[in-house]
Amino acid sequence: MPNETILVIEDEKNILELVKYNLEKEGFRVLTALKGNAGLDMALKEKPSLVILDLMLPEIGGLDICRILKQNDKSRGIPLIMLTAKGTEADKVVGLELGADDYMTKPFSPRELIARIKAVLRRVKDKSSAKVLKAGTLELDAAKHELRLKGKPVELTAKEFELLKTLMEASGRVLSREFLLERVWGYDHSVHIETRTVDMHVGGLRKKIGKESERIVTVKSVGYRFDEE
Ligand code: CA
Repeated sequence: MPNETILVIEDEKNILELVKYNLEKEGFRVLTALKGNAGLDMALKEKPSLVILDLMLPEIGGLDICRILKQNDKSRGIPLIMLTAKGTEADKVVGLELGADDYMTKPFSPRELIARIKAVLRRVKDKSSAKVLKAGTLELDAAKHELRLKGKPVELTAKEFELLKTLMEASGRVLSREFLLERVWGYDHSVHIETRTVDMHVGGLRKKIGKESERIVTVKSVGYRFDEE
């Protein structure tokens, strides 16, 4: 995917250089920032195709940057991949809830990072080719990347939106957690990720859609099904 701009916000110079080198080798244009403030400014000004964001940063931390970008209409659509040195479950959960599209725990392989970047960018592109899906008082407008409940927009994270869209598109069919991981997170089976991630996001999604959450049915030991009727 040449000509796409990736912004890397990371205060460890070695990691920043390693990521930059590998991304440029793949044909990406790379912007870098060593501090939180500069990174945030750059993200808002340059509108990169994707931001790679370290969690522990001087000035403003990664979680705060994530929150600010996702609250701003102009930057909400920019996908984020978080880098975390801590690797604690709590940080990952917070990051994903704030709308990060993915995360990687340090140390990571540049190859895997690039694979994930491409998966995220591919999903963003796929979104532009879609219609409005309806069920009860829910309307999922893929082109606008908006979910409406009784006509009012519901704020979903990127993953929650994608998850609901996948379930609605397959309405009436049971989708396994593995299938959802692959479709929504874009991972192939060789990459380790816990299927519990899916449950976590379904939980978050259900909370936001009130009574309509009954349409997302848990199919024991398999996965989930969306019921239109
Ligand atoms: Ca750091």
